Amino acid sequence: MAEEIKTTCPYCGVGCGVIAKIADDGNVSVMGDPDHPANFGRLCSKGSALAETIDLDGRLLHPEIAGRRAGWDEALDLVAQRFLDAIAEHGPDSVAFYVSGQLLTEDYYVANKLMKGFIGSANIDTNSRLCMSSSVAGHRRAFGADTVPGTYEDLELADLVILTGSNLAWCHPVIYQRLAAAKAARPGMKVVVIDPRRTMTADIADLHLAIRPDSDVALFLGLFEHLIANNAIDQNYVAEHTNGFAEAFASASGVSFNEVLELTGLPAMQLREFYRLFAATEKAVTCYSQGVNQSSSGTDKVNAIINCHLATGRIGKPGMGPFSLTGQPNAMGGREVGGLANMLAAHMAIESAQDRDRVQRFWQSPAIAERPGLKAVDMFKAVGDGRIKALWIMATNPVVSLPDADAVKAAIRACPFVVVSDILKTTDTAPHAHLLLPSLGWGEKSGTVTNSERRISRQRSFIDAPGDARADWWQLAEVARRMGFADAFAFASPSDIFNEHAALSAFENRGNRDFDIGAYARIDKAAYDAMTPFQWPQPVGDDRTVTRFFAKGSFFHPDRKARFVPVEPPASDRTSADYPFTLNTGRIRDQWHTMTRTGKSARLSAHIAEPFAELHPRDAMEIGVGNAGLVEIESPQGKAVVRALITERQARGSIFVPMHWNDQFAAKARIDAVVAPLTDPFSGQPASKNVAVAARPLKAA
Ligand code: SF4
Repeated sequence: MAEEIKTTCPYCGVGCGVIAKIADDGNVSVMGDPDHPANFGRLCSKGSALAETIDLDGRLLHPEIAGRRAGWDEALDLVAQRFLDAIAEHGPDSVAFYVSGQLLTEDYYVANKLMKGFIGSANIDTNSRLCMSSSVAGHRRAFGADTVPGTYEDLELADLVILTGSNLAWCHPVIYQRLAAAKAARPGMKVVVIDPRRTMTADIADLHLAIRPDSDVALFLGLFEHLIANNAIDQNYVAEHTNGFAEAFASASGVSFNEVLELTGLPAMQLREFYRLFAATEKAVTCYSQGVNQSSSGTDKVNAIINCHLATGRIGKPGMGPFSLTGQPNAMGGREVGGLANMLAAHMAIESAQDRDRVQRFWQSPAIAERPGLKAVDMFKAVGDGRIKALWIMATNPVVSLPDADAVKAAIRACPFVVVSDILKTTDTAPHAHLLLPSLGWGEKSGTVTNSERRISRQRSFIDAPGDARADWWQLAEVARRMGFADAFAFASPSDIFNEHAALSAFENRGNRDFDIGAYARIDKAAYDAMTPFQWPQPVGDDRTVTRFFAKGSFFHPDRKARFVPVEPPASDRTSADYPFTLNTGRIRDQWHTMTRTGKSARLSAHIAEPFAELHPRDAMEIGVGNAGLVEIESPQGKAVVRALITERQARGSIFVPMHWNDQFAAKARIDAVVAPLTDPFSGQPASKNVAVAARPLKAA
């Protein structure tokens, strides 16, 4: 009789529940968990192929120092000593951790505690910086804290769902399935897709707005102005629950309808129809993802969207609200425990002396980071210019995924001491490390993750750890112990860590009950093991409405009011005579990140087997490339070579290339080697969707 273990998919931020079945012969199969509130039994292609990606091919099974097999004691002693040496000689800001939304909340918690509370630097950042940090910054500006108001059910309850900068069908497939089913059941429901490309998501759209890259701010400023001009503002809500309307109004009225037409490149009829729909439909949800976040104006885009929802009072109510969809399985869990260089644990602010004091007293730590640390792109610049002397990379592959990826590779190679904790030794980053530490993979590790709708679920182990692989939290705690912090890191299991995280969320009744999961501070290991998915805020007594953020119009600024944020349309055309195309990078349906796991499944690779550059037919003709011909994409940062995919889904002048392929799969396939390290000024998130490039057929050597 097969054993069944309930766990969570490790890929995207939907956070689907998975039942792993282990047969008597040890074979593993998976199915969707019908009881999990994120997916109710559904799985997408990636989730259903999980069992095909858990083999030991390429696995890192033992610590390796300079390519030599080592024991854990020798390896951990070396990490502790090199970090202590760097700190003693150059100060705490000379070391850094670069972590990942693939880590479990417990791993994240320990990494953040060690860096911010014991080393005394905030130089811990994450690949989630590339995923949703503009939403974090936008939420903090509007709401006073990084709080996502939406739930998946809201998409099913809404009469109008706007998907902007989100290829939901491929990037959050199970939410898309839920939306498509709801739309089929309620034909009156409208879907608007805002995206320069015509993606698969647009197939269910009543209206597809193919806006120019980075013209989202202009689009939503125009909507704000339209709402005012058509008496669609909820005056009572604005007066009682918000501040800053006049300033936002002034910024919106500075942009005329004709300017919006010019900036977005949309036909007037489409624009009017979108504005009419939004003004007329109370139950409206605006979902946004990387097309909004991965931009040099990402934070302003987020606030332009939120402004429209605040102005109409459409937030904190069923079927309404702005809703940021996170890319990674535990981007949200990382936010909860402060795994970003500009945040403290438990949603407390690093800029607040009171919050720093509270966290330091809770941890009883010798130091606390006094100011934000280096965000991802700046962190690797600091690695490259020698300010960072010791770097620990966990569960991520920055040589493929960060912008200006060749410069990142050079920086890592030049760093005096680099540790990589990973499940694989075949990543593009691993060969450049001085020390490799073998981590646990999906099915082997245990802990919690939080999905896009703030639902905390368990990942459970059901496979024995291979070789000497150990959990990331254990590696961190062992290094902390060797650095002299044994008492504070005496964790024996993930449940110990979760208890402490929950206790910190409620420490000194900090006034924000919405963040309080303190009840979980007291659960024992058996209750932790049996934990069923739950959403925060936790309900208080009989008052179920507190499970929904902002249900009572109360926000997290000191006056409890939300803020309208005045924004301006940015200059967005980066093209020039030398670099006449706009490159947009993104995901495809059946691969995950840098393909280190999904690339193992032939079934997944059968969907799209090679990296490609999607081009409009006239652009392809002008540069002289035919379908499947090799195209060289070039920017001042570097080059990539991929096959042309000629399609009218692509707007003229723009090129789409997936971000997944690494040099293990195809030479010169790392598109991030071409992406400029340009970032949003508030969030530090890279602008990966609007890169000026040249494109030409590859000439034979
Ligand atoms: Fe996994 Fe996301 Fe697919 Fe769900 S939608 S099965 S979480 S990849």
